Amino acid sequence: MDYLLNEQQKMVRDLARQIAQEKIKPVAAHYDETEEFAWPIMKILSDSDIFGIYIPEQYGGLGGGILEMCLATEELSRACGAIALGFAGTALGTFPILLYGSDEQKKKYLPDIAKGKRLAAFCITEAEAGSDAGSIKTNAKKDGDYYILNGTKQWITNAGEAEVYTVIAMTDKTKGARGASAFIVEKGTKGMEFGAKEKKLGIRASATREVIFTDCKIPKANLISKEGMGFIVAMKTFDNSRPGVAAQAVGIAQGAFDAALDYATKRIQFGQPISSFQAIQHMLADMAMQIEAARAIVYSTARMVDAGIKDIAKESSMAKCYAGDVAMKVTTDAVQIFGGYGYMREYPVEKFMRDAKITQIYEGTNQIQRNVIAAHLIKGTKK
Ligand SMILES: Cc1cc2nc3c(=O)[nH]c(=O)nc-3n(C[C@H](O)[C@H](O)[C@H](O)COP(=O)(O)OP(=O)(O)OC[C@H]3O[C@@H](n4cnc5c(N)ncnc54)[C@H](O)[C@@H]3O)c2cc1C
Repeated sequence: MDYLLNEQQKMVRDLARQIAQEKIKPVAAHYDETEEFAWPIMKILSDSDIFGIYIPEQYGGLGGGILEMCLATEELSRACGAIALGFAGTALGTFPILLYGSDEQKKKYLPDIAKGKRLAAFCITEAEAGSDAGSIKTNAKKDGDYYILNGTKQWITNAGEAEVYTVIAMTDKTKGARGASAFIVEKGTKGMEFGAKEKKLGIRASATREVIFTDCKIPKANLISKEGMGFIVAMKTFDNSRPGVAAQAVGIAQGAFDAALDYATKRIQFGQPISSFQAIQHMLADMAMQIEAARAIVYSTARMVDAGIKDIAKESSMAKCYAGDVAMKVTTDAVQIFGGYGYMREYPVEKFMRDAKITQIYEGTNQIQRNVIAAHLIKGTKK
């Protein structure tokens, strides 16, 4: 399908594809096995200016938008959904600054992020507050020119590796959702520590850790927007980042499909390639259709965000939910096409299947996405 990408978008896609296929694909299984963070690949991405593609030129980026971010995420994820998160998780952590930061904050943080000198992370989830993000307990108490943070954020992507953290904390718990605020916390700030690296089913090369704040003192200049804006910052961040998770899902599905198609033409059973069996052909056709439909919804949503359309929560949730479900289905079918070999770590498809699962869980589970979509549909009937 031709998505009528402009020259810059094609350049981003081709560059990310080249890095992914030449540099990431050969080492994806190694990083999955060792669970190390792929710093050598981050260096390649930063040398190629990939980290700056969605950051405005005035802050050292290339001036692209969410579509460019999605194209890069998709291509990187086609080789490895975990390594891609060094980039996509940084975008998630950067959106609060990009969308709501002051000019000083943007000047201070965005150029280094655009150059790939500093990775970023976004911290909202806590042990008792996942889907119910409104019940977070991490507290930010004003103290003169500072805020004092106390609390523990759980399962934070890029934690420990990133230098810049955007954190949602309660400044006034009596106000409920209006009592949360967003902050920037730099790695190395006294009172900020990291938990042990989590051991996960998939995206094993991605670093997931707790971020622990104990009397962590940060300047009030690090408050993003105003007190009380924390959940608005978080929700708008998700509107921008969910197409990225969806793009990660499309990339993972495409990577699994590529491997399955190739395998189906080479595996001989009953004296012929298994691709000659209609059962396999129909699986391949369904997989290809589902991937293309997911890609179409991702690119359309990204274009809506880039066009400045304000209320895109429904579309963003649709893209994330649909693409995540497609990734799970397609990668499971890819394992099926490989038969017993698909179940073996020696072959690439079981990793795609393990990596796909997270796209149905983080940045709001697919049940929560369906809640968001349904709420918008029902609200629409009352107009
Ligand atoms: C690998 C990994 C990386 C992550 N990275 C980050 C990160 O960088 N930053 C960050 O802040 N968080 C991150 N998270 C957290 C992630 O966003 C949460 O795990 C997710 O939002 C779900 O929360 P929960 O795990 O507490 O599940 P729960 O909220 O406990 O949900 C459990 C189940 O109940 C369902 N459920 C809950 N409420 C409802 C409802 N109202 N209607 C229907 N079903 C419901 C859920 O869909 C799910 O199936 C990460 C998580 C993982 C596993």
